[in-house]
Amino acid sequence: MKILCMFVCIAAGVEAGFAAGTVYLYRLGALEVYTLVETTGPGRSQILAGADEALLKRYLPADFKSEINAFLVRGGGRTVLVDTGLGGAIFDNLKELGVSPAAVDAVLITHMHGDHIGGLAKDGKALFPNALVYLSAAERDYWTKTSVNAAAVAALAPYGNRVRTFVPEEPGAALTELVPGFTALAAYGHTPGHTAFLVSSGSARLLIWGDLMHVQSVQFPRPDISVTYDMDPAAAAETRKKILDYVAKNRIPVAGMHLLYPAIGTVRAGGEGYGWTAEK
Ligand SMILES: [Zn+2]
Repeated sequence: MKILCMFVCIAAGVEAGFAAGTVYLYRLGALEVYTLVETTGPGRSQILAGADEALLKRYLPADFKSEINAFLVRGGGRTVLVDTGLGGAIFDNLKELGVSPAAVDAVLITHMHGDHIGGLAKDGKALFPNALVYLSAAERDYWTKTSVNAAAVAALAPYGNRVRTFVPEEPGAALTELVPGFTALAAYGHTPGHTAFLVSSGSARLLIWGDLMHVQSVQFPRPDISVTYDMDPAAAAETRKKILDYVAKNRIPVAGMHLLYPAIGTVRAGGEGYGWTAEK
């Protein structure tokens, strides 16, 4: 259900479809999950590693789009954000939904690329002043100890001891809850500690899979194709196949930071690679 298209859409003359500033509501048991569209625009085929002309011609629409999303989950007395986009439209979207940044209890981070942690902090201040920030220990350590990245360090610093780390688990294991209703699955390859979050309410589940995929028209049928942003392309492809298989077998709907609006839907195995049906 598309619930609103804010001033960005109006300013751009967009009457329908998706645009930055668009919010989509998905109901998951007793929870509300909102896709918060941060940016949308033309995609670049150069990011597809090892894809030849024939493959691009076969799968890639001429006008293919690229999108950045974050997700907000509300319910059970909690407000949880999964990733923070670039730190742009996300704040307008939250405002439109009547959610003050101070009301966000937890921010779950899939990985520390700039289009996911951009909204955490600005000028040394935490932009979610009351939130605990959760990310995998491997991810935090890589960007703040092994290969020190100033933006990553600055994003976490204002949260001090409100940063909580964890070790993501394998699909199918008895999973440990980070906050009620949220567990963490290992999805390494895109980055060393890349994490997918499984959200549950009653028997309803949704896997918010971060950057498992960047170009859906190519990577659903050909999950073996990685992108240049995947730090370990072979591991990323292996993880992609494993998680696609897991969600298809268990019929778990998924949400993705670079899937196209509404960026939530279901995966099925069969035919060539995997098929995708977006929510309406
Ligand atoms: Zn990303």
